[in-house]
Amino acid sequence: MSGDLNTIRLSATDRGLRVAVTFLRKGGLVAFPTETVYGLGADARDERAVAGIYRAKGRPAHNPVIVHVASLQAAARLIDLPSEGARLAQAFWPGPLTLVAPVRADSGIADICRAGAQTLAVRVPAAPLALSLLQAFDGPIAAPSANLSGKVSPTSADHVMEEMHGLVEGVLDGGVCGVGLESTIVGFDEDGTPCILRPGGVTREQLEQVAGPISDAPVTNDLAPSAPGQLSSHYAPGARLRLNAAQPELGEAWLGFGEEPQRTSAITINLSPTASVEEAATNLFAHLRILDAQLEYSGTIAVAAIPENGIGLAINDRLNRAAAPR
Ligand code: AMP
Ligand code: MG
Repeated sequence: MSGDLNTIRLSATDRGLRVAVTFLRKGGLVAFPTETVYGLGADARDERAVAGIYRAKGRPAHNPVIVHVASLQAAARLIDLPSEGARLAQAFWPGPLTLVAPVRADSGIADICRAGAQTLAVRVPAAPLALSLLQAFDGPIAAPSANLSGKVSPTSADHVMEEMHGLVEGVLDGGVCGVGLESTIVGFDEDGTPCILRPGGVTREQLEQVAGPISDAPVTNDLAPSAPGQLSSHYAPGARLRLNAAQPELGEAWLGFGEEPQRTSAITINLSPTASVEEAATNLFAHLRILDAQLEYSGTIAVAAIPENGIGLAINDRLNRAAAPR
C-alpha cells in the first residue's frame, strides 16, 4: 500500500517531537508509539485531519477513534466520567485503559471522532514519548492503531513504515511497544456500572480491585454502545489461523507458547518459551507479521493454546478475531 507523501522517520528527540507537532498543527498525520501499539495521530479538534486518518487506514466511518490526552484533568474537560470511571482513571492513568463516557458539549472534539455516538473514548497513555508528544502538541490527539483497517496492529516503527509509507507525514520512532496489545476499553451503563468493551493491557482482575465487579456483557444502550471493533474479523494476517493447536500439521507454520511440541515446523516462532502471557502479548503482533511474511501471506499458522489468565484473555480475544471468517 502506498500514497504520495514522503513519510519521514522522526527520532525520539526534541527535534523529532518539534517536527511531529508541526505536522499535527497543519492537519497532518503522525504515527507515534504508545505502550500498547503505535497510534496514527491527528489533531482531534480538526474534522479534516481526523478524516485523513479514516482515509489513510481505509477505516469504516462507523468505527470511532480513541482520543489521547496528557492528563486526567485534560480528559475531564472532554467527557463526563461517572464516579467509578474517575476511580479507574485515577488508578490506571497514565496507562493502557480507555474510558468511554458521554462527551461534553464544550469538548471541542471533532464529531467525526465519535462516529455518531454520544460517547467519546479517551485515554492517557503511559509511554514517555507519547506523553511528551501530547505535552508538546498541547491538545488532544485522535489515534487509532497505525495499520490498514482490519490488519495486524503495529508494535514497532518498522511495522508502520512498511504498511503506511506514503500515507502519513511522519513516524515517531520509539522502538518496540512494551504491552504490545491495544488498551482495555471500559464503558458504563446508565447507572455508571463499568463493563469491559474490549479486553487489553489492564486486566479484569486489576479493574475489579478498584471498581468492584465488572461485567463484560455487551452494553447496548445509547450511552455505551458496544465497541464496534469487537465482533467482526480484525487484526487479521493474510494466512489463516488454527487456534489451540497441539502441534503443527504438515505445511503449517507454528506459533508456540511455552514448551515446544514433539512435531515442529520449518517456520516456527515461540511467543514465550518461559510461558509468560505478558511476554507473549508483547510479541504477538510482531510474530504474526513475521510468520505471515514467511508464508507469503497465505497458508495456515497453527497457534498453541494460550492460558486464559491475566492478559492471556486479551491475547485470545485478538487471536479469535484474527481467526474469524473474513
Ligand atoms: P483501535 O481501532 O484499535 O484504535 O480502537 C478503537 C476502538 O475503540 C474502536 O474500534 C471501538 O471499539 C472503540 N471506541 C472508540 N470510541 C468509542 C465510543 N465512542 N464508543 C464505544 N467504543 C468506542
Ligand atoms: Mg486497530
